[in-house]
Amino acid sequence: MNDRQVGDDVVRECLLCGRSDEPTSEHIIPQALWRRFGIDPDRDDLARYRTTLCHSHNQATSALHRRPEMLDLIETGEPVTPKTLRHLADWAVWITLLLALARGSGVLGVDESRNLLLRRFDSDKAGTPKGMRVYAARVSEYIARDNGPSHALALYGDSRVLVDQEGSPIGFSVRTGPVNASESIGLGRVALLVVGRTHPSGPGHTDRLDSAAASLGLQRILPLSTDMPDLPPTGISMSEVGKLFTVIPGGADVSLFPASLRWPYAPDEQAEQGDE
Ligand SMILES: [Zn+2]
Repeated sequence: MNDRQVGDDVVRECLLCGRSDEPTSEHIIPQALWRRFGIDPDRDDLARYRTTLCHSHNQATSALHRRPEMLDLIETGEPVTPKTLRHLADWAVWITLLLALARGSGVLGVDESRNLLLRRFDSDKAGTPKGMRVYAARVSEYIARDNGPSHALALYGDSRVLVDQEGSPIGFSVRTGPVNASESIGLGRVALLVVGRTHPSGPGHTDRLDSAAASLGLQRILPLSTDMPDLPPTGISMSEVGKLFTVIPGGADVSLFPASLRWPYAPDEQAEQGDE
């Protein structure tokens, strides 16, 4: 993705800093994990999970994968502890941003993803980005089902959402944009859903986000509540998880969309609820 053809040569540039000296292949989904499933990490069809990083950024990101208990949880579904859930949530956020940047679209857009990743991996001080939420489930089986709900969300940083000087949403322009509401990953015994920071839709907004995720069997692991989720193993449809949240309101449930943007997507509801 971040390899450039110059004449006869391919110049491999670091996805994060653009340097082309000492290019290395980065496995965004760690090789150790693929191997646990008996999969060759260098398989051609897994190319979208690899990218180019300079030597120092490869070193920095590899620390993210050096969490054997977290890899155990992904592979076997155990152990579920505050530590493994915290590691899993943190890992989900950063690999989501890396995958999104490699692909050119994501929950935060390319520039912000790159800035956050550089801050994280150059200093190792940056916490997870403000307002992002991560949901997880332990998967008893992957099921083929495709009739789940779809909720429209207005994300901070999405250029489709027009905001006033105070940053409150005032309008929405429909066109395709590079921002997705969420990213979903199903790997081994774990399903993950990473959701970007959303403009509030009214009272109880974050609780209602959690309820929407719970309707598909997912529990919140970021922010992790003191009342720790137990992640009861459940059947999960990744296609439903992938469609749960969208940034395109047409045809979706708009109850999690800011009231000021709901019209014309749900004129009846707007009339009933007025200005929340
Ligand atoms: Zn670099």
